[in-house]
Amino acid sequence: MRTNARKTFLILAALIVLSAAAVLLTGQIAKSHAREEAVSALLGNDLLAVGNDTLSLTRAEAKAKRKWYSLSPGTAGTIRISDMEQAVILPAGDVSDIDITVRSDGKTVFFGKADQFSWFFPENGTYRFEAVCSVEGTAVTSKGEELNVKGTELFTAELIYDIPMQITFLSDHTKQGSVIPVTGSGVRGDVIISAGALAAPFPLITDGRGYAKGLFSVSYSTDPGTYTATIETEEGTREFRFTVEEEQYTVQHLTISEETQSSTVGNSDNRAAYNAMMKSTYESWYPERFYDSCFTLPAGGTVTTEFGLFRYTNDNPVPSRHAGVDIANEEGTPILAAASGYVIVADFNGVTGNTVVIDHGLGVRTYYYHMSELSVKQGEFVEEGREIGHMGSTGYATGPHLHFNVMVHDNSIDPWAAFDGTSGIFGID
Ligand SMILES: [Zn+2]
Repeated sequence: MRTNARKTFLILAALIVLSAAAVLLTGQIAKSHAREEAVSALLGNDLLAVGNDTLSLTRAEAKAKRKWYSLSPGTAGTIRISDMEQAVILPAGDVSDIDITVRSDGKTVFFGKADQFSWFFPENGTYRFEAVCSVEGTAVTSKGEELNVKGTELFTAELIYDIPMQITFLSDHTKQGSVIPVTGSGVRGDVIISAGALAAPFPLITDGRGYAKGLFSVSYSTDPGTYTATIETEEGTREFRFTVEEEQYTVQHLTISEETQSSTVGNSDNRAAYNAMMKSTYESWYPERFYDSCFTLPAGGTVTTEFGLFRYTNDNPVPSRHAGVDIANEEGTPILAAASGYVIVADFNGVTGNTVVIDHGLGVRTYYYHMSELSVKQGEFVEEGREIGHMGSTGYATGPHLHFNVMVHDNSIDPWAAFDGTSGIFGID
């Protein structure tokens, strides 16, 4: 905590003024009155008190002010500031009993209890703060006498909010197929992150108190190099430079019968149904994080196709990429939810067969393909490890296996980093 002589003086002055107020109150039982000159405001762990001075908060103090709610009632008749030694004479009872009004140019911009005040996050500017408190209990005078006090007190202050908007990418480099967490403070209005063809625009999740968060993902198919992300805010557009580092991916040559091809991915109706289903999963997401510290393997078996692999099918010179991992086992092997979340798809299409998609919040989703049958319905909340279906070979598949995919917004990311807890998806709560 910062200290300086002036502040120490102000605190001492406040204690004397407040002690005097307590003396006055003994003779003014239950009488409401306002005392503009005795200003006291509690600012997190700080007490700022001013006789005839105007209380003015610096930027940091304005932030601290918003921690009013962290006060807890102390002994009878006082509220004790957690790490201050002095018991300060202030209203009895819970801070929720304090009525707070904040005005700007005479207009009320906030009225509520102290615990609601912690949610107040106005535009930067100067405000008049008033707290009306019921006072009842024991106060200690400057001579050390204990007095019973009861009444109502009005505390006023001037608040200056000057909280800058900060958007922070938690790393300036990342591998192909991974995630950079993004956080924000002092955020007003929407913040949209984009990076050209790398990442479709997505909004940060905001809480109305200036905090923001989101997950910026990079596809496995992004070329290594340096890129620029664009951050659009109410205050204008900012840019962030970051580097994508190369990840090693394997190569596979696969032969698939014409019949399998044409009855699944080769059929335009199937592809249209698949594309529509997938697109629906990108469009919105839960702002809460439902997943914990690492994902559960969704099936036992052998990994037959790795994440990000280059696949050459039937001598086609252009490879496709494998967006997830394939795990092969016997038909009917249980398939488990890799993490908790809402089932947003539980349906069949001609490409991925019986398909489940789970929304885990913050833009993170998992995809489960080719199941023989499904055990969940769309809209259900499933806990991590819950059975969601059974392994099969429905859709574009050459034998029983699970295709498992993790996506963040519109990019597939490395599922192994989700299993071992190292993924950037765990970087925000
Ligand atoms: Zn696959």
